[in-house]
Amino acid sequence: MLIRQVLPLDAAVPSDLRIDDGVIVEVGASLPRRAGEEVLDADGALAIPGLWDQHVHTGQLAQAHARLDTTGAGSVGVLLERVRAELAARRETGAAGAALIGFGHRLVDFAIPPTVPALDEVTGSVPTVLIGGDAHHAWLNSAALHALGLPPRDGIVAEEDWFALAPRLPELPGVAESVATGAAMLQRQALQRGVVGLVDMEWGRPWESWPHRSPRMRIRTAVYPEELAAAPGPTDTALDPSGLVTMGPLKVIVDGALGSHSAYTREAYTDGHGYAGHGVLSVGPEALRDALAEARRRGLTAAVHAIGDAAAQVALAAIAEVGIAARIEHAQMLTDDDIDAMASLGVVASVQPAHLLDDRDATEAIWPGHGTQAFRLRDLREAGVELALGSDAPVAPLDPWLAMAAAVHRSADERPAWHPSQQLQPREALAASIDGVGRLAVGGRADLVLLEGADELFADVPVGTDGLMDEAAAREAAARLRAVDPLATVAAGRLESQR
Ligand SMILES: [Zn+2]
Repeated sequence: MLIRQVLPLDAAVPSDLRIDDGVIVEVGASLPRRAGEEVLDADGALAIPGLWDQHVHTGQLAQAHARLDTTGAGSVGVLLERVRAELAARRETGAAGAALIGFGHRLVDFAIPPTVPALDEVTGSVPTVLIGGDAHHAWLNSAALHALGLPPRDGIVAEEDWFALAPRLPELPGVAESVATGAAMLQRQALQRGVVGLVDMEWGRPWESWPHRSPRMRIRTAVYPEELAAAPGPTDTALDPSGLVTMGPLKVIVDGALGSHSAYTREAYTDGHGYAGHGVLSVGPEALRDALAEARRRGLTAAVHAIGDAAAQVALAAIAEVGIAARIEHAQMLTDDDIDAMASLGVVASVQPAHLLDDRDATEAIWPGHGTQAFRLRDLREAGVELALGSDAPVAPLDPWLAMAAAVHRSADERPAWHPSQQLQPREALAASIDGVGRLAVGGRADLVLLEGADELFADVPVGTDGLMDEAAAREAAARLRAVDPLATVAAGRLESQR
């Protein structure tokens, strides 16, 4: 494939780019077209390396299009009303046979706890699973519990129990069909946003599902400790004939999430509604060390989920002891010591900046005075920690432009940036979104995104004498990033999306 007249970021003049077998093989002022070669005329458009989403749950995302959106349901009553309306609509359209899966509610919003009998009353015999927006718990009715072979219970299913259950949802009627359609849709939408690769943190055995999903982008599939023995090989092992699907890291979740009071912190916190404690350490230091040691023996890297600062501390101690190449997923709350440890151990910070938009108020409410510890992107970067941005989709949209915008401006509304000292420049946010690829060059992966009218997009936001970015300029820079609509996306040497 020959791409004519692209303007690589930092280049003064456009050039032609030749791609062969998924690799950039030639860059020149005016390359002659070879017989039969596909030509894409970029017409001077800006070319950046292909974007990555370093943290996605593709099974859940694939199911998302068939799900009832329960975000913003501020009480159990409102949530049940949505479920009732959805079931009524399904009865009218004749789609009543399938299980009902919902996603998005937050436990912190509920004054009374969700119970199985309350859900049964609304849903009757339709298997129903309402997944929390943080993906750390679900509210199942009796029909769903029964269909999945679980004993009757009164409350929600959370943390480890839920993680074990989530990959089994396709056993419920109608769910597997919606996953297949959803996998094609999520790839198409991601490619349209310029995404050429993602790290799949799905539970179960994503390395078995992806080769059957017609992969069109690079996919690294994670493995959780319970499936470690089934992992098909070391990290980077090719898992399909195209080589697009490769083995990713061992993923271990050592704490929960902020909104479920399960983020594990050094200092106790309270939500003002009766919760007080340090959160939950779901995998202890010894179990974590054993899992990491086994992963290292198998040639796997590690991705350790740690949201609270105490979880990060446990994770970093185990990583240091085992000596495994690792990343911290989320790294949402860190002390200076944690950042120093990450820098000296070479641990990557895999952060999802869009979470800071949602968690801004919850963080200030639950961890008053600790907002300076949250999403320390600038501090991480300045300490020399490699940043790898992602979305955690479907918790946040699979949209690297939204992630970059959140990293640059740190505000989702009219309020000024939240802890602006941690803002990244647009170029720094981009550098954290391209899987370590520095620039488009001969010998490099033929993964690229063409953008038009992008002159200002990656310009530095002016910084004042206080060392902080100009608020209005940062807001505008973020708005420009969010508004990007790529012209074309080339993934592994193939034109996979074109506007
Ligand atoms: Zn996740």
